[in-house]
Amino acid sequence: MDGTDNVVPVVGVLALQGAFRVHESMLVQAGAVTRQVRTPLDLERCDALVMPGGESTTMSRLLDTAGLFDPLAARIAAGMPAFGTCAGMILLAVDVLDGRPDQRSFGAIDIAVRRNGYGRQIDSFEGDIQLDESVGQGSSSFHAVFIRAPKVERVGHDVAVLASFAEVPVLARQGQVVVASFHPELTADTRLHQYFLSIVAANHAATSTRTVI
Ligand code: GLN
Repeated sequence: MDGTDNVVPVVGVLALQGAFRVHESMLVQAGAVTRQVRTPLDLERCDALVMPGGESTTMSRLLDTAGLFDPLAARIAAGMPAFGTCAGMILLAVDVLDGRPDQRSFGAIDIAVRRNGYGRQIDSFEGDIQLDESVGQGSSSFHAVFIRAPKVERVGHDVAVLASFAEVPVLARQGQVVVASFHPELTADTRLHQYFLSIVAANHAATSTRTVI
């Protein structure tokens, strides 16, 4: 036992590259116990994982060199909740368009995403989106910041679209996996982190399978 027993779920933040620190502070603000994940042992000590924005090709490579890709794939396949934003969305998608040939993804949500799909001229933009009522958390309007964002080009039958921008899905869920093509950690609004934490809490109450070390 290391003190992080199963009373409170531990939310990991993939900390190999990218915007992980801001995500972690949002999760803490939303009331989570967090842990930065860089090794398979870090991952074993978590009950859920946030995969931040950054550069998906670099993250894919670092996941391999850290020996994290396969254990993470196994945890996700076993139902661990995961929340991927921007590059994290790309890493969780079934199909990655305009990826690097050696880029890997977890195939955890049945969507096709095109890297940098919004085009160079608007590689960063902001807009207000309407959250599906199942997301809860009060008002449905959410200010979304897109930075070289992936564009969703296909959504499978088992995927729930929770928000769209200009009729393109930008927030989606399949089972315990939530993805956003924007950066919810870059505004002061913690509602999407709270939404993910509600999924983590429900999953934690239903299963307590984390190996305690
Ligand atoms: N375009 C980046 C990629 O391919 C994602 C950008 C981001 O995460 N802000 O990974």
